[in-house]
Amino acid sequence: MRILAPGLLIVWLSCALMPAFGEPAVTTKPAEPPVRVVIETSLKTGSGQIRQFAFDGQPDTFFASEKNAVVSDFFTLVFDKPVTLKSIDVSTGRLDGAERLDSGTLEVSVDGKTFEGLVPFKNGEAHSGPTANPIHAIRIKSAKDLEHPLVIREFTIESELPIARFVFPVEITIDVIDAPEMREWTEKVARICERAYPMINEELKSDGFVPARRISLTLKKDYDGVAFASGNSITGSVKFFKEHPDDVGAMVHETAHVVQHYRGRGNPGWLVEGVADYVRYFKFEPEKTRRLDPQRAHYNGSYHTSASFLAYITNKYDKQAVLKINQQMRDGKYTDAIFEQLTGKTLKELDEEWRASLKQ
Ligand SMILES: [Zn+2]
Repeated sequence: MRILAPGLLIVWLSCALMPAFGEPAVTTKPAEPPVRVVIETSLKTGSGQIRQFAFDGQPDTFFASEKNAVVSDFFTLVFDKPVTLKSIDVSTGRLDGAERLDSGTLEVSVDGKTFEGLVPFKNGEAHSGPTANPIHAIRIKSAKDLEHPLVIREFTIESELPIARFVFPVEITIDVIDAPEMREWTEKVARICERAYPMINEELKSDGFVPARRISLTLKKDYDGVAFASGNSITGSVKFFKEHPDDVGAMVHETAHVVQHYRGRGNPGWLVEGVADYVRYFKFEPEKTRRLDPQRAHYNGSYHTSASFLAYITNKYDKQAVLKINQQMRDGKYTDAIFEQLTGKTLKELDEEWRASLKQ
């Protein structure tokens, strides 16, 4: 953070100053966002050493498999689109140097399906310079059955278009004992929520707060509601999600509750749900936002209604409104006065103003 901040400041300043110097802003192409990554592996995670630790930019965190890896196992980084690589460095083994991969290959794939060897692992490391073609995926394969788990410290990748590392590493493990037929759906949803995790954490970040690294997602037969979150656990109803398999946003809402981490500090329920639905509807699936009835809607209507109120405050008064409100609630310091601090108006005044805007 300390290293990054001055750089960010410079970027921001130069952007802000550009129009003042008469730069033709319309001709500048917006910077392409970093390419995102999904990790695919045959290996189960052991002792909390989650997959995303292998690509989080932190050399002291690592992925470790639960069991000894065998020759058919793989650990693959799949990029959202092919990327021209300048260099790849992979380090394996625990912090004390144990359990390194000494006989294996770093492989690459142009199409994401067929792989070819790039460089062998030596002394637990693999290094490569530029690749001939844009690469869609890279993977680690052992040359033999190991007598220890596969331990991956870090992938370090330099590429033309940057690849997004896991700044908020997380792993969502599923429990479908109540409904084994829902395994595929639940795995898919877990990956979607993992993918949404960086966005949720950007929206709800606060100084010194480290979000959950591991979240459990359980489907229950005897639960009649939709879904709920408790600590770092999410529970969903088998019946509901069988009938509404497209309602993935409900699980993103619960993932937002895990990140909120309010731990019951007397925060108003409408706002707790409003923040979770703000993340869901206004950031994750904005195409699903609904028009509200100005006669009936009030700021404290909870869920989608309160989310819409928060979006109004964000757009009109303060782009960081939800971030600031979340921080107060997380710190257990929330009072309604924050709305006056953000807008100069009381909640009642804001309610009238927002409802009037709904008529337009
Ligand atoms: Zn909720």
